Amino acid sequence: MHLRKHDLLQMDDEWLKKLPAELLLEVSKRLLHDVKELQDRLNQSPTNSSRPPTSRAPWEKPRDAAGEASDVRVENPPEAAAEPATEGADSTAEPVKAKVSPSSSPKGSSKPRGKQPGSPGHGRTQKLAITDTCEHRPERCAACGEALAADAWSQAYTARDEIDIAAPLEGRIGLMFSVTRHTLREVGCTCGHISRALPWRAAADAQWEQVELGEWRLVGPRLAGIIVFLALRLRLSRARLRELLMEMFDLTLSTGVIDETIREAGRASLPLEDTLVADIVQAAQLHVDETSWPESGVLLWLWALVTTHTVLFLIGPRSREMLENALQDGYLGILISDGYGVYRAWENRLRCWPHLLRKLRGLAESSDGRVSGVGQEMEAILKTLMAAIYAARIEPPPEGLPVRYAADIARMQKLCEAHQMDDHPALRSVVREFLYDWKVILRPLAEPHLPLSNNAAEQALRHWVISRTISHGTRSEAGSRAFALLASVIETCRRRGVSVWRYLGTVIRAARTGLQLPALPAIPTTA
Ligand SMILES: [Zn+2]
Repeated sequence: MHLRKHDLLQMDDEWLKKLPAELLLEVSKRLLHDVKELQDRLNQSPTNSSRPPTSRAPWEKPRDAAGEASDVRVENPPEAAAEPATEGADSTAEPVKAKVSPSSSPKGSSKPRGKQPGSPGHGRTQKLAITDTCEHRPERCAACGEALAADAWSQAYTARDEIDIAAPLEGRIGLMFSVTRHTLREVGCTCGHISRALPWRAAADAQWEQVELGEWRLVGPRLAGIIVFLALRLRLSRARLRELLMEMFDLTLSTGVIDETIREAGRASLPLEDTLVADIVQAAQLHVDETSWPESGVLLWLWALVTTHTVLFLIGPRSREMLENALQDGYLGILISDGYGVYRAWENRLRCWPHLLRKLRGLAESSDGRVSGVGQEMEAILKTLMAAIYAARIEPPPEGLPVRYAADIARMQKLCEAHQMDDHPALRSVVREFLYDWKVILRPLAEPHLPLSNNAAEQALRHWVISRTISHGTRSEAGSRAFALLASVIETCRRRGVSVWRYLGTVIRAARTGLQLPALPAIPTTA
């Protein structure tokens, strides 16, 4: 869109009549462009909109009418967020209040949460000393497209303050805060039109409900990175985080602003998901596990896809499609999992032996002596084989483990076959599981270097299982998406030995101005 509300208000018949022919042509071209774009938007529905395929979550279903309602918000002029009334600031104003109204509410109500534009503020306000200033000027005339001269008439029309973490001083540790006053100017053109510098703002996106992404923010990118780190990695609740910022840095941020910052960071990280998936699909071995995850009362699953240097978390249903879609063109390496049915579609797969041993222990502890006997015998055989695999990693026997332990393997198979129609449901179920996955379970005997446990995935989930206990899951689809994306970036940064909040700061900075995101931290080379 070339022309915003501010521009159109200046344009009328009188103005057009005064324009020379070549500028009139230029203005017509811009009007035509905008009319075509608006026409296309009117025809847009979730089924034909140009959302990139990657932005559609694996589990996502086509939207109903509710999706259309959110598309209408695309029509909102981007400068709506930049109207002086929203923040109550202009270039000559006193330092603005640190407490701003979050521009969105997570509950889907049309009324933004917190302070309404123009209404008097409540609660604590904070005077912040300005440490830096930054001027924003439009480069070209919005009406005729001519470059605007540096000495053209101009004036400040609004301003905003941004609190961030300043660049570190050489040789000093600790954090310094900066407060930058961003002044937005309007500049006059020779055609008579006045153009305004506008803060960049991402178009509304149905899958992100009311999560806004753009430049007009109180919380700067690096401070946003720290907030995400404190909330997700250190598991501070929004209220605790607010308390920490107030207690340690004399900084007052509402829990609404904190929550909004975290969800915006999730939206900012979305383009990284493709790279995460690409890295995972290339790995030789992939550990997968899942745990339950409530999303506003609905039972979903938090999946962890784990390789040595990359972790991808997804929140969605516990279905095979979920995993297949996440792995896009398919995964050709070795998948390591527990016994859950969705994994059986993968031929190239390993089973977690400690899981199997736990099931056999359950049988061995049965009060039914017959069941207990079978459990104990199978457990003993599996333990023998496990020890043999560990030994073979150091010194493999020349004839190979399947030959050396042929008698044990045959005995276990005989036990399983003998009890596959057993009356005892637990025993029947366990031996059937062994028979069904026989080749997969015994594969490490022939290839003892392969992992025997799914510890990597279980461990990756453990941290977030505690988060689930603290937060009771997530409250909306957008909240879940932001959580999974940020958890993935955090775990991946940690595995690659990179500071989480600093990297996230660079991601958020780029995303807020519509620039390409910095690549994921490089995979460390094994020294
Ligand atoms: Zn002009």
